[in-house]
Amino acid sequence: MNEAQPGPDNTPADWLHNPRRTPALYRRTAEGHIIAEDIACQHEYVTRRARCPACGGALRVVAQIDRAAEGLSELVCECQRCLGLTRLHFDISNAAYQGWLAGLQGELYIRRYDGPPRTPAP
Ligand SMILES: [Zn+2]
Repeated sequence: MNEAQPGPDNTPADWLHNPRRTPALYRRTAEGHIIAEDIACQHEYVTRRARCPACGGALRVVAQIDRAAEGLSELVCECQRCLGLTRLHFDISNAAYQGWLAGLQGELYIRRYDGPPRTPAP
């Protein structure tokens, strides 16, 4: 973490949120990954947009798998109705996410994915 001074409304949700989200948020990459631009948006996607593919029920996150070396964040979600599991793969290789993370971590930032940043599929 850097030593940025917290503002009066600095809650945990605020620092998990990238204030510079772009129109590419939630678009799909050519590989089918969902473009994420911070941590908060991944959880917002699960609670506000995603539904169980089997029954249409609401999902909740039960595990996060660190795949940063692949430029990915995987959320394992459980359906609140049928308890089926769904895995969502978010792209975090993009410039918006990595720029946000670098600003958050300051000199502790290490880019763990060395491939080119993914972009939205046309
Ligand atoms: Zn379900």
